[in-house]
Amino acid sequence: MPSPDKRYKKHKTIKTPGGKTVRRIVKKKTKKQTCAVCTSLIHGVPHGKRPFEVKKLSKTERRPENLLAPILCPKCRDVAYKDAVMLKNNLKTEADCDFRYIKYVKMILKKIE
Ligand SMILES: [Zn+2]
Repeated sequence: MPSPDKRYKKHKTIKTPGGKTVRRIVKKKTKKQTCAVCTSLIHGVPHGKRPFEVKKLSKTERRPENLLAPILCPKCRDVAYKDAVMLKNNLKTEADCDFRYIKYVKMILKKIE
């Protein structure tokens, strides 16, 4: 039985230069970021790198400089912005908003107040 810290890690069988086959732990890489509502890909976020490589990047290279940018895609962000402004000006009630956006609408409302 492998030690507890190695039990759930992804392994890969490789051949060494000496001809032996050994099992090595696969090092994790960052995934592509997806939108929290529609699951489309978000651009401008690093992927395919090790976490320590992402940490070394500058602040603006790590994510787009926009409100909720690493969470929502531009289309969903537009809908959330409009809902937040309409809620603030009493043009819409919370029941009229799409339930998938309400969480993000509240986050925007906190920022613009
Ligand atoms: Zn989206």
